[in-house]
Amino acid sequence: MSSTTVTRALFDDVMVPNYNPQQMVPVRGEDCRLWDQEGREYLDLTAGIAVTALGHSHPALLKALKEQADRVWHLSNVFTNEPALRLAQKLTQATFADRVFFCNSGAEANEAAFKLARKYAHDHFGAEKSEIISFVQSFHGRTLFTVTVGGQPKYCQGFEPVPGGIAHAPFNDLAAVEALVSERTCAIVVEPVQGEGGVIPADPAFLRGLRELCDRHNALLIFDEVQTGVGRTGSLYAYMDTDVIPDILTSAKGLGGGFPIGAMLTTDAIAQSFSVGTHGTTYGGNPLGCAVAEAVLDEVNRPQLLADVGRKHERLVAALQAINERHGLFAEVRGKGLLLGAELIDAWKGQSGRFLAAAREQGVLILVAGPDVLRFAPPLIITDAQIDTAMAALERAIEQVLEEGPES
Ligand SMILES: *Cc1c(COP(=O)(O)O)cnc(C)c1O
Repeated sequence: MSSTTVTRALFDDVMVPNYNPQQMVPVRGEDCRLWDQEGREYLDLTAGIAVTALGHSHPALLKALKEQADRVWHLSNVFTNEPALRLAQKLTQATFADRVFFCNSGAEANEAAFKLARKYAHDHFGAEKSEIISFVQSFHGRTLFTVTVGGQPKYCQGFEPVPGGIAHAPFNDLAAVEALVSERTCAIVVEPVQGEGGVIPADPAFLRGLRELCDRHNALLIFDEVQTGVGRTGSLYAYMDTDVIPDILTSAKGLGGGFPIGAMLTTDAIAQSFSVGTHGTTYGGNPLGCAVAEAVLDEVNRPQLLADVGRKHERLVAALQAINERHGLFAEVRGKGLLLGAELIDAWKGQSGRFLAAAREQGVLILVAGPDVLRFAPPLIITDAQIDTAMAALERAIEQVLEEGPES
């Protein structure tokens, strides 16, 4: 199996053109590093979009995967399996939740959450109670339901007709939610930090206000922690850092450390509305994914690792601010834990992709959150030395782009 027989150019011939991947093709990874087909080394501050929380080729994850691969890969939900049972037990012990539903992605976890919220309202209050409130700029996945709940209309355009019964309020604007919420509301869904929307943390008072509105109107509060979960913000789940407890929480991305898995967590009372036969998925809770996720959870849910995320946050923010003092490129540096965003000043708005490409040339891989924000979501195990090396490379990239000047 030669890695040089296929190249990036082939992508444009054989793939549906819904992505435009970077020009190099990574072939191998280890901790925070990636190597491309030419053997060039990169520091990976993308973590596969906040997925490879423990970096690439983590020994504990490799061990879990290989051991389970030798036992059994797939059974379907006609049977249960030991890794799924163990993972569900650990997730319920570690969180507010009593019960877990497994699936394969963040979108599927949210799809399950929205369907459960509708079903619960239908069971307890009648079919009229079906409206979901979410937020402008939010992101909840790409199925037709989740993309419609999401607050970026461009992702729905051309796919109409879209599902109804969904309303959007501006993020962090409690008065706007108060104006929308009613007895017809079955759920409010919020990201504790909007990820794709620009790395924007929710105000603590806003989250408290949502909890109160949900309680007052018999609506469920859903936290989409697909990006913020599994240690990303410095607690196992971001809600733990607030004084708000959701009714439903969705998790994916970091949960599998790179193996596709999603989970919807909820209470015993709410879970009852997903009675036998009401919802399902062939692969959900498959033994391979659950075995890897169990290893991820064991590694991430440790006080030392979580405390280190907070410390590395400080180091990364300080480095970005120091860069900004020298170059005045960022309007704001924000985020939580190791989910950080640097919003470009007006003169550079719309050009985040140029910095991403220049950083790659300097050997460091970063993300954007839309055209105006550079996003950093490194593996939680990134070292201080790697942070320093990455920030020095980023600064060289920034200097180069600044020298070329803004595109008009
Ligand atoms: C990535 C993401 C999703 C979608 O997850 P997929 O696994 O791509 O379906 C949903 N919600 C949030 C907050 C995300 O960041």
